[in-house]
Amino acid sequence: MMAFGDLSLDAPHKPNKGHEGGACNRQSCQAEPALWFNHGTQQWYCADCRRDIQFDAFNLRDWTQQWQPRLGHPMFETREQIDARERLTEARRNYIPAPPQKSPSLIRILTKARRAHA
Ligand SMILES: [Zn+2]
Repeated sequence: MMAFGDLSLDAPHKPNKGHEGGACNRQSCQAEPALWFNHGTQQWYCADCRRDIQFDAFNLRDWTQQWQPRLGHPMFETREQIDARERLTEARRNYIPAPPQKSPSLIRILTKARRAHA
């Protein structure tokens, strides 16, 4: 597997550059497989470049302050993480709260009241 920096900064683009499971979107890397989706660029990256980009001091601060509160997810996610988050969002959207249950003591009070009026 190739690591970041193996290619020149003007290396030719692989046809699958930036694609899911294809070549890393960083031009000087283009290592495979690209399994990390960058929500900023909307392209896919290899694990090494994901770590470099996400945890770069400037990027991390910018994402944490500007984007994380609004979007509710980190800058990079795997397909598995994206799917799990979307399933959770969907489940929350479809959640219907159960009607409140009467407590046993309330049931006793209501039963007595009904008898008193009978
Ligand atoms: Zn890379």
